[in-house]
Amino acid sequence: MAVRFSNTMLSLKPSDIGPLLAIIAQPDIISFAGGLPAPQTFPLKELTEVAVKVREQDGAGAMQYGPSLGYMGLRKAIADRMNRMYVPMGMEAVDPKNIMVVTGSQQGLDMTGRIFLDKDDVVLIESPSYMGAIDAFSLNRPRFIEVPTDDQGMIPEELEKILQKEPKVKFIYLIPNYQNPTGICMSLERRKKFMDVVTRYDIPVFEDNPYGDLRFEGEEIAPLISMDPKHLVIYSGTFSKTLCPGMRLAWLVARDDIMKQLDRVKGSTDLATPSVTQREVAMYMTNYDFEGHVQDNCRLYAHRRDVMCNAIDKYFPAEVKHTYPHGGLFLWVELPEGCDSRDLFKYAIEKKVAYVPGDAFFPVSGKRNFFRLNYSYTEDDVTEEGIRRLAEALKEYLAS
Ligand code: PMP
Repeated sequence: MAVRFSNTMLSLKPSDIGPLLAIIAQPDIISFAGGLPAPQTFPLKELTEVAVKVREQDGAGAMQYGPSLGYMGLRKAIADRMNRMYVPMGMEAVDPKNIMVVTGSQQGLDMTGRIFLDKDDVVLIESPSYMGAIDAFSLNRPRFIEVPTDDQGMIPEELEKILQKEPKVKFIYLIPNYQNPTGICMSLERRKKFMDVVTRYDIPVFEDNPYGDLRFEGEEIAPLISMDPKHLVIYSGTFSKTLCPGMRLAWLVARDDIMKQLDRVKGSTDLATPSVTQREVAMYMTNYDFEGHVQDNCRLYAHRRDVMCNAIDKYFPAEVKHTYPHGGLFLWVELPEGCDSRDLFKYAIEKKVAYVPGDAFFPVSGKRNFFRLNYSYTEDDVTEEGIRRLAEALKEYLAS
């Protein structure tokens, strides 16, 4: 007998990224499609040491159920680090009671969708935006509106126009630092104007910041949470890109009433994030050179960004444009108007190279003349060869 799935599941658009990933997984394909950190950055020796020490020194705590908000030792270490970095930029000191440890920032996205969204509620996103967030929020069947976005980030005047006529906006999701997929960093002026608008309209904001620590050059720009008199910002940080994604450790910062709702969902979802990994990372943060490690990651990724951008400049046709990110893991390629990155994809696969077609990041407009490239994972010679192949595909496609 056929099983009957929920209307929510039946309403979801079938994802065509799955079949695409299967093609990309073929061993002879050079893939710039993923978002994987370079495995040589994982501090395996240190993580092995803390794994042993945690079991020796606090084995009972590490192997026991823990509080749904997370292990206080880790919440304190996260608060200390954020306060060191952002209080001088204007943020009110974060109290560890307003921090929840989550099982990857993906879980924070899921929980935030659940506490705010009923069917047909509106979520505002940058245009384009991170497809993992779009997928997480989609489980609540909201309506997305893409807010026009340029090379400085979301445009506050456009945001205000939408807020004036849309009563059902529940929150705004954005990635101010080295955005996924574009690599763009929102300017300070934009951040201030943006926070001025959301403060006037009292709209919660999900500030997703997985890439802020991966800044290659330029001054750090204050996060939205440091310009937030009404505490409307839910800030999300993660260890996935600074340490390793396999630990599945991230955190949310939110004001008391929002945290209370998040805590109810967290308890119902998985009771708590694993006690053992939280203790390991807390020990790593307090006893090892975490900041030095982050700087090493930045040096490697800045180098890999340069290798990819230099290869693009050497091989790509002049009419194909790209962003030059000052941090993060991705850059964004723009094809001439009327081109379709899905059609180009077929040529690319023939040449054994892959990327993510851009329409996946535009849930409403579905724009097709863009694609995303990841530069963090591949070695220099592989990157150069992959970009050379992609340039060949581009030339054949543009001539067709
Ligand atoms: N948000 C953004 C913008 C991301 O790019 C990613 C990872 N690709 C995530 C969230 C999820 O990260 P995590 O490993 O912490 O779940």
